[in-house]
Amino acid sequence: MRTETERHQFQNDPGQSVIDFIKRFVAESPLNRLDAFGNNAIFEDPLVGFASGGDPLFGEYKKIIGEHHLTPQEVMENGGRPPGRNLSVVCWALPIATDTKKGERREKTYPSRRWGHTRFYGEQFNDALRNAVAGMLEDMGYASVAPVASKFYWMSASKYAANWSERHALYAAGLGTFGLNDGFITAKGIAMRCGSVVTSLELPPTPRTFKSHMANCPYVMDGSCGRCMERCPSGSISAQGHDKTKCFNHMKTVYEKFHEDYQVQIIGCGLCQTRVPCEMAAPKGKTATAQV
Ligand code: SF4
Ligand code: SF4
Repeated sequence: MRTETERHQFQNDPGQSVIDFIKRFVAESPLNRLDAFGNNAIFEDPLVGFASGGDPLFGEYKKIIGEHHLTPQEVMENGGRPPGRNLSVVCWALPIATDTKKGERREKTYPSRRWGHTRFYGEQFNDALRNAVAGMLEDMGYASVAPVASKFYWMSASKYAANWSERHALYAAGLGTFGLNDGFITAKGIAMRCGSVVTSLELPPTPRTFKSHMANCPYVMDGSCGRCMERCPSGSISAQGHDKTKCFNHMKTVYEKFHEDYQVQIIGCGLCQTRVPCEMAAPKGKTATAQV
């Protein structure tokens, strides 16, 4: 249940209310905490953007990603909610805590324990945020579905394919672009987790100001940087891009070696997201320097 004040604020400025709700949840949720690391926050202040559900880009994703990738309308149908005419996609990027990134910078082959906990518990928090945002919007009278937290969501075991890509939703919502390593470079960097909710609430789309879908990666734009190639311990990144098979095999090794010790069911790797110029922000071409 929402208070009368919350409802009033929402009616006055729904877009700002959604942004405030997400920021407050990140700041206050006890789930956004790392028990094993001094109860410090997993994620810092988020970025939030909105895409129009009718953006032609979502239709193009059927060609770029594959027919299996759902449009916002299909997300609503699959979630058992009315498809609606003026759908929006609420998107957020959760920057990983600076201390976690600093620790990961020192690693050369395998991710740190703190990175592993961030990947595992951070995604549990992110799921809670997805459900909270969809629940708040439903409370306000707008049909809403969090695709990645829904029963119809699937991702192939190799992680090559899924029926909803949150990074592509973030691109549509103007929050950043892709990088050489397949990560998503936002104004607060590439080391982040992201989330999305499709809703019948009409919100003003965040402008996409990028020249291309890889504009935040200087290697792709002018041949500079390329630091993630040196950083990757498994040779998964080259001038040709990201070799998903090699990367997947390295992550499998990481999991087998560390999941008992770290006591988590997912660990990730993330070395190519730290000690690189795009770690904390979108780098500026040939002047880019890595965080050390
Ligand atoms: S490290 Fe450099 S080349 Fe790699 S994704 Fe980041 S900006 Fe692009
Ligand atoms: S996640 Fe790890 S293995 Fe995969 S590309 Fe990045 S550094 Fe390489």
